[in-house]
Amino acid sequence: MEGASKTRLCAVIGDPIEHSLSPAMHNAAFKALDLNYTYIAIRVEKQKLREALGWLRNVGIHGLSVTMPHKIDIMKYLDQIDRLAEDIDAVNTVHNKNGKLLGYNTDGIGALKALKEKVPTLRGKKVVMLGAGGAARAIAFTLASEDVELTILNRTGNKAVQLANSLKKRFRGTVSGEKLEKKTLQTALPNADILINATEVGMSPNTNETLVTRDLMKPGLAVFDAVYIPLETKLLQEAAAAGAITVNGAKMLVYQGAEAFKIWTGRDAPTEVMWNAVLDELRRRT
Ligand code: NAP
Repeated sequence: MEGASKTRLCAVIGDPIEHSLSPAMHNAAFKALDLNYTYIAIRVEKQKLREALGWLRNVGIHGLSVTMPHKIDIMKYLDQIDRLAEDIDAVNTVHNKNGKLLGYNTDGIGALKALKEKVPTLRGKKVVMLGAGGAARAIAFTLASEDVELTILNRTGNKAVQLANSLKKRFRGTVSGEKLEKKTLQTALPNADILINATEVGMSPNTNETLVTRDLMKPGLAVFDAVYIPLETKLLQEAAAAGAITVNGAKMLVYQGAEAFKIWTGRDAPTEVMWNAVLDELRRRT
């Protein structure tokens, strides 16, 4: 039909995938800007990634969100990877540009945008981050350009040390890594401006778990939890009880999605629409 543009297909791939909030979030955004795009969730098992990407290339996929367990494996099948994603060593967004698959990582950008809503200036801040997995790596490498003092605490201590070492050549501020234990938390937290939980502790169904309780938090401390199900994690409840500032992981989800949206469409994302879609979806499920 003359004048009708072809629908561009975007998808999130992962396993499991049925609980992803991304289709609701992105379809709401495409609709709000009247863009002829559609976004679906596709379950791709770990060992089927290569095959799935071949198929997705054949159907002319325009954009991909990539989630567990493919964020690292997908890198070997892409045509180009942006430097931040290369540093993080994981890709969460793919753009098919003229037949070439380009990889990006928007998780850290999303986390920092969420944090900056409550803490506009990060420069000079003392940040304590719990975790040294994928989300932690993304956040840490994005923080590298912000001139902060970062302490990484992880259950497996040598992973924290390794991450700190790999960050050193990129970091404008200072960075160190230690084992996560009561003693290291008690030393780091009284001086901290920002606490980031980049572990899965507190995520549904383990909603009663937190690595930090209210006695270690104080008014003025900003506490950001990457976990977004539930929206108000136990850590954020404890932080609020201590008078700290709270930032939830759903904001990170929206802002990482907004960055991906911009990569795929060249347009600024309607973040308010995306936020409302995520909230509606979360409410529908509880
Ligand atoms: P990951 O790569 O598997 O890393 C998991 C991290 O959690 C590791 O540092 C691990 O420590 C730590 N951990 C797990 N259980 C723990 C426990 N009981 N006590 C202390 N530490 C524990 O996972 P990920 O991809 O980084 O995801 C982490 C969280 O971030 C998940 O809840 C995920 O949903 C969330 N996330 C949110 C967004 C968003 O947009 N909001 C985006 C990405 C991820 P060890 O190294 O010792 O195992």
